[in-house]
Amino acid sequence: MGPQVIDSHGHPITDGGGPLDLSSINVELAQDEHSRAERAKSSPSRLSHELLGVRLADYLGCSVEEVPTAREEASRDWPGYVRGLFVAAHLDGMVLDPGWKLNATTAAADQFSELIGCPVRPILRLEPMIDRMIEEGAGASEILGAVEGAVREAPASGYFGLKTIIAYRTGLAVDPLATLVAAQASLDETTHLPARRRGKALRDLILRRSLGWAAELGLPFQIHTGFGDSEIRLVEANPLLLEELLRTKEGQAATIVLIHGSYPWHEELAFLTLSKPNVYAELSEFNLYSVGTVADRLERVLDFAPAARVLCGTDGHGNPETFWFGALMIQEAWVRVRDKWAAQGARPTWLADVETAIMTGNTARLYGF
Ligand SMILES: [Zn+2]
Repeated sequence: MGPQVIDSHGHPITDGGGPLDLSSINVELAQDEHSRAERAKSSPSRLSHELLGVRLADYLGCSVEEVPTAREEASRDWPGYVRGLFVAAHLDGMVLDPGWKLNATTAAADQFSELIGCPVRPILRLEPMIDRMIEEGAGASEILGAVEGAVREAPASGYFGLKTIIAYRTGLAVDPLATLVAAQASLDETTHLPARRRGKALRDLILRRSLGWAAELGLPFQIHTGFGDSEIRLVEANPLLLEELLRTKEGQAATIVLIHGSYPWHEELAFLTLSKPNVYAELSEFNLYSVGTVADRLERVLDFAPAARVLCGTDGHGNPETFWFGALMIQEAWVRVRDKWAAQGARPTWLADVETAIMTGNTARLYGF
């Protein structure tokens, strides 16, 4: 039996069950017929697909081939099925980014909490508002003002933190000197681009200012780093690109959580975490997709960064099995790391403290559980 986990990063769950297509649990998003056919053909050859299938077959009491239909049957009582998975994975709470699947019922934290039977702390993702206003033709100062309003209202609106996916937009090489004039020019000069790639100086300015507001409000700030779905340009998601931003007054004042273990830049993440007292390392998502090496990746962060600033999560999204599987993978990985460090001489009480910190304590402290 693994330790309890408060999931430091997850997304809404779909509104109902049915047969489960394991190939859909994938970072590749293209929905055209050719891509879907290729995905269906190649997905079973991924280790993550294999292990998820095997574990789920064991959970459902069927063969791997029977998983889609056994899941359809088991999920007829959807709330019971979802809650069963959360209980089986010892999930005790969750930090929710409803910015992905805003339309799902569980984008509302109280609905999610009722479904899984444990507390849920939502965070406010900034990009939906920025993207929408850029698309509507708003100016830089208008967008900056609107974001400031939303951030300042965040605690009263029930949010426990903020989040940016600027890595998916104009990248993590944030220019800390971006001005309002440059911000407006970054809109004026990019009307030929899709909104998501427009306004780099504006997005940079908003991020720096938002870090300052978050610090004033005492809200932790998640920054997407490392891999993600196929929309990401991975070269723009290296956490070291944030160095200049992290040296600003705002970048040193805010509580900054670099998420997803910055896969594949674990040592880089560990260095930023150790060398900057306000930076936290959040480990999630790679435990869904890179499952043969979760213990190795966890150790590469914990080997260097202080455990007092490392948080474990899942990046569960859509299918409730992703929360369950991500939690199992990181719990098993920790047990392996723990046993190895015990053999090296680390004391049992110290290891127990590390376990509590990374699985529940740090997330509970940052997000007010
Ligand atoms: Zn996520």
